[in-house]
Amino acid sequence: MTRAVVLGGGLAGVLAATVLAGHADEVVLVEGDRYPSGPRPRRGLPQSHHSHVLVAGGARALDALLPGTVDALLADGAHLRDLPGDALIYSADGWFRRLHTGAHLISCTRGLLDQVVRRRALGGGDVEVWEDTRALGLTGDEVRVTGVSVSRQGSPPETVRADLVIDATGRRSQSPRWLAEIGAADIEEVSVATGLAYATRLYRAPVDLAATIPAIMLHPGTEKGRPARGATLFPVEDGRWIVTLTGTRGGEPPTDEQGYAAFARSLRHPIVADLMAEATPLGVVRPYRDTVNRRRFFERARLPAGFAVVGDAAVAVNPIHSHGMSVAALGALRLREELARHGMGPSLFAGLQSALAEEAERSWRMAVEQDTQRAGQQAGDRVVERAGRDGAPRREPNAFEREIRTRLAQAKLSSPRLAAEFFGVQTLISAGTVKDRSEIARVLTGRPEPLLTDEEAIGQYPALAAWRRTRLAAATG
Ligand SMILES: Cc1cc2nc3c(=O)[nH]c(=O)nc-3n(C[C@H](O)[C@H](O)[C@H](O)COP(=O)(O)OP(=O)(O)OC[C@H]3O[C@@H](n4cnc5c(N)ncnc54)[C@H](O)[C@@H]3O)c2cc1C
Repeated sequence: MTRAVVLGGGLAGVLAATVLAGHADEVVLVEGDRYPSGPRPRRGLPQSHHSHVLVAGGARALDALLPGTVDALLADGAHLRDLPGDALIYSADGWFRRLHTGAHLISCTRGLLDQVVRRRALGGGDVEVWEDTRALGLTGDEVRVTGVSVSRQGSPPETVRADLVIDATGRRSQSPRWLAEIGAADIEEVSVATGLAYATRLYRAPVDLAATIPAIMLHPGTEKGRPARGATLFPVEDGRWIVTLTGTRGGEPPTDEQGYAAFARSLRHPIVADLMAEATPLGVVRPYRDTVNRRRFFERARLPAGFAVVGDAAVAVNPIHSHGMSVAALGALRLREELARHGMGPSLFAGLQSALAEEAERSWRMAVEQDTQRAGQQAGDRVVERAGRDGAPRREPNAFEREIRTRLAQAKLSSPRLAAEFFGVQTLISAGTVKDRSEIARVLTGRPEPLLTDEEAIGQYPALAAWRRTRLAAATG
């Protein structure tokens, strides 16, 4: 009888366990926490208090794994927003026009997303779920993992035999230590930090704007030597909004009432502050700081057979890029393909970790490239904490390169083709290698489209613009 044990019942673990249920006689999911009975945050998932959007590529993957999940999320109150067709985005280069590109995101609380996924993935009873059970280590040697050591509800450790152990314990995974304890090779690790801090609060939205509000994203500007500060406001289920304020080292958002409001008001545009002022806060402001991009290159080590790592435990990207859940879903899809090809036999293990790493590669590269570039603009910021060849800082662009970059960046605000390419890559629905050369040539040689003014940008959303006019009129008497 074959048994697979998945450590960690977050999104990556739940999806991996579902996939394994089609291939192993028995699948055990070991979760240190207790799952909440409703769509609520939980202790083992501190990030579940914060904004979580599922980008199009992840939504597709999730539906391929668990058909009908996206519809179930929407039926339970999640919102779908086209990018940038239903999103008011103030990028460093200006406001985006309302273009329809085929890219989108799904927005709801993390609690709802997990609950819907768990119901569909674990509801059939194919996976045995051990809640309140901590994984303590691996058993076996450098050639083969034979099981895990766990403690159930605080009881003394017990060993569970397994043909395959998958680590999905997230950012705080102990796998490098666990592998060292059984004599396996060291795991190379790279971290790229921007020092980004989150502060998030839920709001009851004004009734007239609750459902119609676009997704709102205020990105940091390009000022040199200043912390990068921004905000997002997303509609979530039950007529609520989730607001996240972000700032890098020296510009972290405060969590006290007045400081939080003042931070929002001091951003490049007051739209998020204005909306917060009209909404009713629900609960406290929650901080979060562990946003470092961290990759453990398990695929480069000689891993023992019978062991693999998925999700944030292997590749955790800065959450500002909104990719982690999508990478978890794409990894589970890849696991399913590898299992279909090799079954649970020995041939599975030769290439499994490399295949999983391939699924995270795009996201990792994008995050590291963008964060390195952005942090390079912040004088004195130590970007690369432990550099490897994937984390190496780039040289500063010269004036000509900067001019080209600015023209291209501004062109994507109004060119449907460039915007489609940009958001296709950002939402993981396109590979990011094909560049629309004729459109690039056109925007570099032609007359640039004028940038939208603040009023024009907000005016693209008539309900929001009308609401704001009324509010400003009331404020000025
Ligand atoms: C602030 C923040 C915002 C984010 N926003 C987004 C977003 O907008 N979009 C997006 O796609 N992604 C986002 N992410 C990333 C996303 O949260 C993760 O990528 C996603 O949850 C998948 O992670 P995972 O399942 O690998 O790990 P986790 O979600 O961390 O789950 C790990 C699980 O393992 C359990 N566990 C840990 N140790 C043990 C142990 N020893 N024994 C047993 N169980 C254990 C934990 O209780 C937990 O349930 C965000 C992350 C953060 C931090």
